[in-house]
Order: sequence, then structure tokens, then C-alpha cells
Amino acid sequence: MAQINDHYLKLKAGYLFPEIGRRVSAFCEANPDAQVIKLGIGDVTEPLAPAILEAMHQAVDEMSQHSSFRGYGPEQGYDFLREAIAEHDYQGLDVSADEIFVSDGSKCDSGNILDIFGPDNVVAVTDPVYPVYVDTNVMAGRTGEADDAGRYAGLVYIPVTAENDFTPALPDQDVDLIYLCYPNNPTGTVASRETLQSWVSYAQERNAVILYDAAYESFITESGVPHSIFEIEGAREVAIEFRSFSKKAGFTGVRCGFTVVPKDLQGKTSCGKNEAIHPLWNRRQSTKFNGASFIVQRGAAAVYSEAGQEQVKNTIDFYMENARLLRAGLEAIGIRVYGGVNAPYVWLKTPGNATSWDFFDDLLTKAHLVGTPGSGFGASGEGYFRLSAFNSRQNVEEAVKRFQGVVAS
Ligand code: PLP
Repeated sequence: MAQINDHYLKLKAGYLFPEIGRRVSAFCEANPDAQVIKLGIGDVTEPLAPAILEAMHQAVDEMSQHSSFRGYGPEQGYDFLREAIAEHDYQGLDVSADEIFVSDGSKCDSGNILDIFGPDNVVAVTDPVYPVYVDTNVMAGRTGEADDAGRYAGLVYIPVTAENDFTPALPDQDVDLIYLCYPNNPTGTVASRETLQSWVSYAQERNAVILYDAAYESFITESGVPHSIFEIEGAREVAIEFRSFSKKAGFTGVRCGFTVVPKDLQGKTSCGKNEAIHPLWNRRQSTKFNGASFIVQRGAAAVYSEAGQEQVKNTIDFYMENARLLRAGLEAIGIRVYGGVNAPYVWLKTPGNATSWDFFDDLLTKAHLVGTPGSGFGASGEGYFRLSAFNSRQNVEEAVKRFQGVVAS
């Protein structure tokens, strides 16, 4: 009989979103007239920008003619997109087009990257954390079993809470792979240049690699906040960066992202010899991936056209106004809120020190609002709650009113 990958059996059964779904369904069944507003899952709600649609329509037309039809494209992405990314997203930074690998999204990339790293690396994640980093390491066999709080043996968890101003402390042990996500999901907070510099220096000293997830980079509104790890001196020797068009340009259903692997980045073989990592990722992608769709890449390239940039920015501004309204509405009733200034997520401290799930139930039953319990993102998320700014203005305004009704009463 075929042997399975036992490590999958260690996974805590995708608890968070199914459990939210179960509680919401049960509530709706019992209260069929309730108008439930969902501020839970981080999916975009606004349609694609006209410049993107036009480019994709044109690409479809190109596919209809012998003269312009395209079959398999380069596994690394078309030059037109890699060059546009290098020129716009990495303007003034030392990142070249051939260090950019286009893909069908950064969830896959942040999981797939583990293919090129050995099984014995010690992995550090922040707590709370985007669950994909943890689960993909469990699948790859780099952890033991989870404890009751959901923490896997063998992973190094770095708490990020209001107490440390959501700034991850450098670990006091050696770690080899470090996941950092800024702007952060779920806390909506950002890392200062100094914090990132301290992590890059740590990685340089320990020969560690930082896996930097900048999926929400385009939501940064404050000047001085780093958009890329490659703004930090020395990062080319220690970091890989993931980016996505999902939230930047509404591509959650279209699917496009990219990963930057600098040519200066090296790892060690099991015999202790230094090896460049760029060729390994190139090999991995060429073998296991056949490139993102041509039509999608044309759409992604249009994000960088003059019209595309303006349209995409307008949509981001719209979501960030939602975030501002949520923040202001909650602060007005004395709730402590974090994030929501440089990210589309507002992270709040539950009033009265309620547990995340108690607050969830209260909000659902009394205000017919759905958010995401912070404890679902990690043990240190207990007592916090995530709200997403991806919604209509009407829903956000109504949600704020209802919040004020239940919490103030
Ligand atoms: N990284 C973070 C931190 C995210 O929150 C998400 C999506 O929610 C992703 C990556 C996934 O992005 P993509 O849609 O490109 O797979």
C-alpha cells in the first residue's frame, strides 16, 4: 500500500474559517431575517480596473490569431511583466528583472519555496501569523505535533502583541528561516526601517534567510515605511521577497504574484559548501510550474500603465478609507485599535478582555457582524480580533453603527 506523508496528519484541521462558517450558518438558520455583515475573510470586493480589463481583452484577442497566438510562456514570466515590475516596484533598488519570478500568486510561492530548503532548518514565525507559513512547514516535516494552544513543536514562535508594540524581538537562539510579513496580516501593523535592519543584520550574522511577504505593500500610506526588504542594506544577501497582485489590483480570482530571489543570496549544502539559491528556485519553477497565463500577465502589466496605476490607487484609497472609518468608529467607543493605517486590516483589542471567540459570538448575536478571532492566527492573538476593510462603504458604515450600538450599550 502506498505510504502517505504522515506530516499532513499533524495539521490542526483548518479550524479557523470553517469554524467561523459553522457558527455563522447556525446563526443565520436560527435568525433568517438577520442581515449579517461579514468583515472576516480578506478577499477583495471591488471589480478589476478598466485598464486591466482592456489589456486582458486585447490579450484574449491575440490568442485568436495564428500570428499572435501564444502557447507555453517562459516559466519565470514574460519579460514585459518582469521588466515592468523591476522598473516600477523596485525603482532605485538593486533588483533586476531576471531576479523576478512571476507566478500564479504568493500563497503558492510562500509554500513552494520550502522545496529548495533542507529539512533540518530551524524556522521562526511571528505569533499571530498568516497560517500558510506554519502549515507548509508542518507538511514539509519540519515540526513535531501541535500542543493545545496550536503551537507546533520545533517551530520558533515570536510573539507580536500590543505589549511589544507589534515588533518581533530577535530570537535568542539560532534560526535558519525567518518569515516576516509587512504590512502584516493579521495585525495590520508595519515594521520600521530599524526593525528590518536589525533582522537583516541578524540574518547576515547567522547565515539565515528571511522570507519576506510584502503582499500588502501597496496599502502603505505613511512615508518612511519600507515597501520592500531590499530597501534595507545587506538584504540582497539574506532575503527573498514575495509580492502579489491579489490585493494590490483585485487579482484574488485572476491569480498573479511574483517572488524576488536575489543572485547574491546563498545557502549551504549538507556538506557545508555555499551554493547560490537563485538557480535552485529557477530550476524548481522550470520543473514544477509552467508559467502564469499570458492573459493574466498582460493584465498584471497593465497595473503599471499610467491609467492602471491611477485606477488601482483609487481602489486602494477606497479600501483605506474603509479602514479609517472602522478605526475611527471603534476608537470613538473606547476600543483599542491597531493597524488599518498602512494595511487593509484593523486589529482590535477585545473590550472587557473577552476571549477572541467570546467576542466573536457576542458580535454575531448582538450586532450580526462577523470578524475573525485573533486566536485563530496563533496563541498570542488571543484577546484580539481582525476586521477587514475589503467591503462596500455602505456595509462598513452600517458595521460601525452596529458596533457602537453593542459595545457602547
Ligand atoms: N500573503 C499574505 C500575508 C496574505 O494575506 C495572502 C492572502 O490573503 C497571501 C499571501 C496570498 O496571496 P495570493 O492571493 O497571491 O496567493
